[in-house]
Amino acid sequence: MKSDYIATIGLEVHVQLKTRTKMFCGCAVEYGAEPNLHVCPVCLGLPGALPVMNLEALKMTALTGLIFKCDIASICKFDRKNYFYPDMPKNYQISQYDLPLCLNGEVPLYDMAYPKDAQKNVRNPNKRVRLVRIHLEEDVAKSFHFETTSGIDFNRAGTPLMEIVSRPDIASPEEAFSYLTSLKQALIYGGVSDADMEKGQLRCDCNVSARKKDETRFGTKIELKNLNSISGVRRALAFEIDRQIEALDRGETLQQETRRWDDNLGETVLMRTKESAHDYRYFPDPDLLPVKTEAFMQEVSARLPELPWEKRERFFREYGISEYDAGVLADDLALSAYFEVAAKGARKPKAIANYVLNDLLSALGAANRTIADCPIPAEHLNELVNLVDDGKINSKQGKEVFAEMFSTGKSPELIVEEKGMKQESDLGAIELLCAEVIAANPKSVEAYKAGKAAAINFLKGQVMKLSKGKANPSLVSEMLAKLLS
Ligand code: ZN
Ligand code: MN
Repeated sequence: MKSDYIATIGLEVHVQLKTRTKMFCGCAVEYGAEPNLHVCPVCLGLPGALPVMNLEALKMTALTGLIFKCDIASICKFDRKNYFYPDMPKNYQISQYDLPLCLNGEVPLYDMAYPKDAQKNVRNPNKRVRLVRIHLEEDVAKSFHFETTSGIDFNRAGTPLMEIVSRPDIASPEEAFSYLTSLKQALIYGGVSDADMEKGQLRCDCNVSARKKDETRFGTKIELKNLNSISGVRRALAFEIDRQIEALDRGETLQQETRRWDDNLGETVLMRTKESAHDYRYFPDPDLLPVKTEAFMQEVSARLPELPWEKRERFFREYGISEYDAGVLADDLALSAYFEVAAKGARKPKAIANYVLNDLLSALGAANRTIADCPIPAEHLNELVNLVDDGKINSKQGKEVFAEMFSTGKSPELIVEEKGMKQESDLGAIELLCAEVIAANPKSVEAYKAGKAAAINFLKGQVMKLSKGKANPSLVSEMLAKLLS
């Protein structure tokens, strides 16, 4: 971005809630089911069908509000948003207009939520993006376009959808990336959504404008659609901001329009120009009563989980691991839970974190697995680190045992037993080994005694070799020093 311009970005994010059933009927919510399997008169929009609210969806939305420090309305209501679209046969979407469930609030942007290459120079550390509102609505059906026909799948119609609207507080594509990453993590932590953009569980529209730094009026707002990954949002915004700046530099006036992101072209493409604001003719849905939230807020408050940014802090404090490691662990709810089980009662939580972040993550990656189907139970990792720490095996053997644990799922104790790996820590046995090596290597002994301290490393190596790698290396060093003094 050219330095004499500033960008203004606001995001509207739609999030699919993880409820068992739809928003206003009892049909199941299931991703990837046979088309039109989960339908009934209500979600097909048949005349005379009456909606019944999903209480769990209301609770999840309120919980999201608590996560982002929103004000929870004491009364909210549902309205009809009227428009005509083939994937919505009622011709209106049930949404919330003037009395949404949540107002205000904020999403924290912490350094590690930024793209990796941008983490070193975050312009505005610990920035918070303010929210306008979070409301609850129903999703529409999904259309598919074939060569000569189109098909509509109503499985998604009427599923609960949360809309999170930010203020135009975002100033760069990297901040938008950080916002979405932070948002997504907190939604997963709260158990309200899996927030997988590829599955359409989190869908993002961007409003973006650019203007000269000394210009006080906002530039012309352009809307971007069809973004299906967080990195795609970053790329689309970077392209669009540059495009607008170039046009402004040429003295052009930008039109309000909607553009879509073409990931293959790496460009935004004009979809339609917006001549005037759409009139949705909102009015209260006469089939649905206003909701008093008081009745369920106590239960919702009790559900408020430890949040990613809180967990990061606690890991850093409690386990004495680096801020970076704490961040990587807390980024993934399942990984952080695994770490905590493995680190329970551990003398060296740092060693556990190293195993998890290096050995385990790369082994999982190579095997194309996730932490959810990790072959090593977390308790076993704890045992392994203790075996190394107690000097029962050395750290090189530890890596070997780890690989075996990963491929067989066996406990480290069992593997050490089977492989006859137990490290020799018996001082009598170590003394015998050292004496044998000293007797066989008079030249090195002489050199050491003449002041060449490094000669002891050769002797140590010989002892390790003689013991077939089983001698406890630090005890060997101590014993050699003692015998040669
Ligand atoms: Zn239904
Ligand atoms: Mn919406």
